[in-house]
Amino acid sequence: MPVKAQILVVEDEPSIQTVVRTYLESAGFDVRLADNGAEALALAEQHPFALVILDLNLPGMDGMEVAARLRADSSVYILMLTARSDELDRVAGLRIGADDYLTKPFSPRELVARVEAILRRNRSALPSHVLTFGDLTIDLDAHEARTPQGRIDLTVTEFQLLAELGKHAGRVLTREQLIERVWGHDFYGTDRVVDVFVGQVRRKLQSGLATPVPIETVRGVGYKLSV
Ligand code: CA
Repeated sequence: MPVKAQILVVEDEPSIQTVVRTYLESAGFDVRLADNGAEALALAEQHPFALVILDLNLPGMDGMEVAARLRADSSVYILMLTARSDELDRVAGLRIGADDYLTKPFSPRELVARVEAILRRNRSALPSHVLTFGDLTIDLDAHEARTPQGRIDLTVTEFQLLAELGKHAGRVLTREQLIERVWGHDFYGTDRVVDVFVGQVRRKLQSGLATPVPIETVRGVGYKLSV
C-alpha cells in the first residue's frame, strides 16, 4: 500500500480542525492536529510531514513565528490560513517561506485542491541537469543553487522559481507562466506573489555573488534569467 502523505494542521478552532481533518482524510491524507505553535513544532520534530497547514492567528506563539521556526529546520511545504484579508499579512507570510495561503472563510474542497496542487509540484520531474550562469550554479537534481560562497538557502518554491527561469534562460517568462509552472493551475491569488518571490530569490543570491544577480525584470512582461 502506498504511504499516505502526512499533513499537520495547526489550528486552534475545533470546528475548523474537524472539517479540515475530515476532508483531508477522505482525500487520502494522514492528518495530525496541533492546537498551538509549541505543539506543532514538537510534532514536526517527530514526523516527516509533507505539508503544514498553519493558521496565522494562534494563541501564544503566532503563526508567523511558527512558520519561521519550521523553515529554520526544514523545507516542508507551508499553506497559511489567515482570517485577515490584509495583503500585508499574506506578503509577510510568503516572505518568511509559506508556499501558499487561503483566507478564511474558505471552502474545504478548495483547501484540499490547494494541498494537492502544492504536493504535485514535487512530482514534476526536472531534467537531470546542472545549469551554470557565471558564478551561479543551479543543480536541478540536488535542488540546490550555489555560488562561490556555498549553497544558497532557498525554500522549495524559491528554488522552483529560479529553476524555471534557469531552464528558460535568455527568454522572458510572464508572471502567468511562472505561476502556472511553479504554483500550478490551481493557484488562486494575485501575480504579485511572483514579484515577492523573485525579490527574495534575488536577495538571497546576491549575498553569495560578487556580480549582479542575473534575474532581469522585463517591464510590463515578466522576468528573465540573463545568460
Ligand atoms: Ca485561529
